Amino acid sequence: MRAVVYRGVNDLRVETVPVPRIKSDELLVKVAACGVCPTDIKKIRYGIVPPPRIFGHETAGTIVQVGARVKKFRVGDRVALHHHVPCLDCHACRHRAFAQCAQYKRTGITAAFEPAGGGYAEYVRVMSFVLPGVVKIPPRNSFLEGALLEPVNTVLKAIHRLSLQRGDFVLVIGQGPIGLMFTRLLALRAMKVVATDLLPARLELARTFGACRVFQGAAQNFTEGINRLTQGRGLDAAIVTAQSDAAVRQAQDFVRGGGQVLLFAHTRRGGRTELDLATICADEKDLIGSYSSDLTLQNEAARLVFRRRLDARQLITHRFPLEQIPEAIELAARPSPESLKIVVTPDRSKGCHHG
Ligand SMILES: [Zn+2]
Ligand SMILES: [Zn+2]
Repeated sequence: MRAVVYRGVNDLRVETVPVPRIKSDELLVKVAACGVCPTDIKKIRYGIVPPPRIFGHETAGTIVQVGARVKKFRVGDRVALHHHVPCLDCHACRHRAFAQCAQYKRTGITAAFEPAGGGYAEYVRVMSFVLPGVVKIPPRNSFLEGALLEPVNTVLKAIHRLSLQRGDFVLVIGQGPIGLMFTRLLALRAMKVVATDLLPARLELARTFGACRVFQGAAQNFTEGINRLTQGRGLDAAIVTAQSDAAVRQAQDFVRGGGQVLLFAHTRRGGRTELDLATICADEKDLIGSYSSDLTLQNEAARLVFRRRLDARQLITHRFPLEQIPEAIELAARPSPESLKIVVTPDRSKGCHHG
């Protein structure tokens, strides 16, 4: 089968590798769609993990082989996959810190080599410990929608970490695909969302996704606008969806005492930033993070996407064949004014209908 193999920093190659062989408690899935995710881009551009690997973890496809001991699934099922599944039993899991669970940190989907998601290939092997995360896609929904289940779950998990009440003001910094998911899911929970981005087209979309106010970048009237909006009280929470330390400091300034700032994109290690720690101690502004998904929110994420309360189809602007994954990653890393979520579809001729 064809696969795109990570061979070193910024070095992706289309290669032929064997179709993975599955064990009796595993599934083989033919990939129909796989989202391009910023965390994979960082791994490729900064060489965070050793090669060779096949990335791609926002995967949807059709089951083509079922291990003899698997009961819940059949050949032909259309499914969305989840590459990280916690044990729900260890010390970390008992504290609901699922992303810190040892089993969770193992990647349970692979096309070849050290498991890394495998979605940038024609077929993936789904290991037994991630089967609880496999979700069937309803007939009316597309594979593309299925592929967005994983990122939607990560956004939902982050929202669950905030202590919000209806009508609260929440700033979402960055209106890329993830920022827009935050905007929509917060609006659905009756939050008043203030959205910022540098690109006007994204701010337009943020409005249709439910933002009550939008600001372009650090607009001059931003401080005044926030003050007027919240009657001088400040924001209840701010979510930083870009790895920008300046944005974190800005968010920390604009939340009220007792408010929360949530980091969603600061995944690259080694950075240091200055912060007035009295804003955390005396002003009680919580600085928190959220990483990856939460299996216990999977059904809620599936409902939101498949019933189109969050219409994932509006987020997908580009589809690339397997051979053009380097171009897909380039576009995702340096978005054009119109580009949002980019999805790789190995087989363009069939299996994948427009959402
Ligand atoms: Zn992802
Ligand atoms: Zn665990």
